[in-house]
Amino acid sequence: MFSRIFVEKNLQENTRVQAILERFSNVPVKEIDKVEDVFGRVKKPYLQKRDNLNLFLGEKKGQLVKEAPDAYGLKGDPHYYFIHAYNCIYECNYCYLQGYFNSPDIVLYMNHDDIAKEILKTASIALESDPNCTPWFHAGEFSDSLALSHITGEVPFYFDVFKNLPQAMLELRTKSANTKALEEVVALPNVVISFSLSPADKIKKNDLKTPSLKARLAAIKRLYELGHPIGIHLDPIIYDKDFLQKYEELITQLAHHIPLVDIEYISVGVVRFTKDVYQQVKMNYPDSELLAEELIKSDDGKVRYSRPMRFWMLQKVKEALVGAGAIDKKVYLCMEELD
Ligand code: SF4
Repeated sequence: MFSRIFVEKNLQENTRVQAILERFSNVPVKEIDKVEDVFGRVKKPYLQKRDNLNLFLGEKKGQLVKEAPDAYGLKGDPHYYFIHAYNCIYECNYCYLQGYFNSPDIVLYMNHDDIAKEILKTASIALESDPNCTPWFHAGEFSDSLALSHITGEVPFYFDVFKNLPQAMLELRTKSANTKALEEVVALPNVVISFSLSPADKIKKNDLKTPSLKARLAAIKRLYELGHPIGIHLDPIIYDKDFLQKYEELITQLAHHIPLVDIEYISVGVVRFTKDVYQQVKMNYPDSELLAEELIKSDDGKVRYSRPMRFWMLQKVKEALVGAGAIDKKVYLCMEELD
């Protein structure tokens, strides 16, 4: 999986680091002072991740928990994300990480204790200012939360943190079917495992190297049966002439694996790019269906389908969900896209 591993010197004794190095014992290891000294210092094209992917192990400094952008989650509560990794082993052709960092190499930050302290501090400030709110913390803003969790080993740690923080919610967002770590912990009502889903053909075409729809649905069923709260993201929806029929089929398949009424929330969003990511998509995937439909550039610089088309697509998918048994108020549209 990795060509080289770079480890910060002060982490050599860290037991999680040692376990990772043992697992990849045939990969050359280089000691470095700080991740930032090497990672992204020289521009590495995104698609080099296919045959030359390095792993960095370090400690995250600076702001470890940040306020999430608008329309990130259920409205009305404060939302934050925490950073414990950069980049992803998968290769979705619409991925917003294309060109976000100067390099597609994977960085895993190992100072989870520091991140947990920041989470506790942030939750306490939020609850002090509004005792009735539920602060949400999202993992996976710059990576997939579960794809490497069997190697990184932090899942039980965050379950312990949130077991002692029942007023707050944790969302682990993923496209993986790697549920091993979650099968070994006791489910908590305030830790939601959320899966991004698309119709099977879209996953094959666009979510390159990710688990199939069948594997993701099986993972959802396994975790649901173990009592883990499940969230679903039908995002990004990509238009084609049969898109609605495909989403209706997807919703039927989903309902065979988990009762829709038991899903904590379902978000629905249409494909969109920042200007920079759009340039990367054109360069990296010039023949992709993402570019087949007319896209417009909005005032905020985002590139997306026209407003009426976005609105129509979102409404149609929401109607299909509610028609199949999902609870109306638990389906939320990424309204940011409609502004
Ligand atoms: S799973 Fe998410 S982070 Fe990973 S490549 Fe796909 S969109 Fe990017």
